[in-house]
Amino acid sequence: MIACLGRIVHDNDAESKLDDDVSTVSKSLELQGIIESGDVSGSASKDFGGLYSITPLFLIKPSGAEDISRVVKFASRTSNLTVAARGNGHSINGQAMAGGGLVIDMRSTEENHLEFLTINGSPYIDVSGGALWEDVLTQCVSRFGLAPRSWTDYLSLTVGGTLSNAGVSGQAFRYGPQTSNVTELEVVTGKGEITVCSETLNSELFFGVLGGLGQFGIITRARVKLQPAPDMVRWIRVVYSEFEEFTRDAEFLVSQKEGESFDYVEGFVFPNRDDPFDGWPSVPLDPVHEFNPGHIPQTAGSVLYCLELAFHYRNSDHPSTVDTVVSRLLGRLGFVEWLKSQVDVSYTEFLLRVKRAEEQAKANGCWDSPHPWLNLFVSKSDIVSFDQTVFKTMLKDGVGGPMLIYPLLRSRWDNRSSVVLPEGEIFYIVALLRFVPKGRSAEKLVAQNQEIVNWCTKEGLDFKLYLPHYQSIEDWKRHFGNQWSRFVDRKASFDPMAILAPGQNIFRRDP
Ligand code: FAD
Repeated sequence: MIACLGRIVHDNDAESKLDDDVSTVSKSLELQGIIESGDVSGSASKDFGGLYSITPLFLIKPSGAEDISRVVKFASRTSNLTVAARGNGHSINGQAMAGGGLVIDMRSTEENHLEFLTINGSPYIDVSGGALWEDVLTQCVSRFGLAPRSWTDYLSLTVGGTLSNAGVSGQAFRYGPQTSNVTELEVVTGKGEITVCSETLNSELFFGVLGGLGQFGIITRARVKLQPAPDMVRWIRVVYSEFEEFTRDAEFLVSQKEGESFDYVEGFVFPNRDDPFDGWPSVPLDPVHEFNPGHIPQTAGSVLYCLELAFHYRNSDHPSTVDTVVSRLLGRLGFVEWLKSQVDVSYTEFLLRVKRAEEQAKANGCWDSPHPWLNLFVSKSDIVSFDQTVFKTMLKDGVGGPMLIYPLLRSRWDNRSSVVLPEGEIFYIVALLRFVPKGRSAEKLVAQNQEIVNWCTKEGLDFKLYLPHYQSIEDWKRHFGNQWSRFVDRKASFDPMAILAPGQNIFRRDP
């Protein structure tokens, strides 16, 4: 596809270097960092999904943007080498892999940037593309009492990795995704140029890279907006038996002004049964108060719904003030009386909550098993139909892990970025976070994901895949819809030889 856009260069010198040993290549590239042949540690050919294993030619641990630029330029002088930035490898479908190509381990650059700035009175932090969000959190809170505004649920993800997708959690209804919360990037383009970009400087590159699936450049630095960090969080779960009531309350909460709603709004669906892993017992936050199924209405169906909410406060706030505000907010909701659970935790404990789930999953072996996850954005106009067919019927027995569903507002997303969304102001993120028991195959679950996507397509639902994965160019064209030509134009401008992020399987570098 891209061959018609790009120029294919044959450089005998660069080709012949590939036959040399690693140290010769390293010297000729004048890298400050390290280069390893193949995948010695095994990490570059694996990802969290565990569904694909693709070995690179070299794994490079760069010291910074200069090294990355050299590697991309080196690849451009060969006839076929590609380059994949690898964040923390938490993709599902091999998106950070490069078969026979060069994988750049962005984690080796994590300490290159960490600078606090105040611009027009507002606080920002400059961080490396390879930094983990959990480290950004710790630094910001412990040193300055500040924090980024928009998060993902799990923070062992890199800044560059989530910005290449969107980065969504329960704060996104208010602040937009993480891509709406950065004001400047330093990027190494597919031509090997190191370019600083923002809304006003090289703006096409800036918006292209945000949600750009790694296609236009490698993010080496990001400037992230900050706000004062709260000390504490009241973390609450309330249960619904009726989907219409659950969505009505969720949509109400995300549509309220700041100060008149919670600070975090998410939700999930769970099987209406006594399964310790994903049924009633998995809902309470406070281990002392068990879930009492006697309160579930007789009319409840195969699945129940849980709104997950958080309210930020400071240590100096009087407990009764927090109680009053939270009671007032909860008083406007129609959840099942008595099916409520809450705990007070520190702000960082709240944001690092999935880390604890990771530790448990590692202990029982299912963290390292395959994860055939499926993430979708579904328009509000189709969400009832989605619930009827997918949650209540196809997935009534659960997916062996969380089934997230919560509303987001389109107006908080910048339509100049490369992310594509359903139409309409309110849409839902649906995340089927499947865990496969140790030793079991993921094949049937991958097939069920495909069945769900096929059903959405056949019924004409207004939906988009989040963290998309497609096999054919026709599917990618359908995914981008009327944004496809913009995506192709950006590729031609910033990575005309289709060197970057081959694992996304969008453009192919022809030999
Ligand atoms: P990788 O998987 O290493 O890379 C992803 C893609 O980005 C690849 O194509 C890669 O080449 C490219 N890339 C990586 N680094 C850079 C860079 N610096 N510049 C340009 N391109 C780059 N997502 C959410 O939005 N919200 C969530 O709550 C959420 N929770 C998650 C929980 C878990 C347990 C997991 C495994 C994933 C979750 N995700 C979530 C998805 C996650 O945001 C994406 O999988 C993200 O791509 C992973 O980041 P990573 O740093 O591991 O990137």
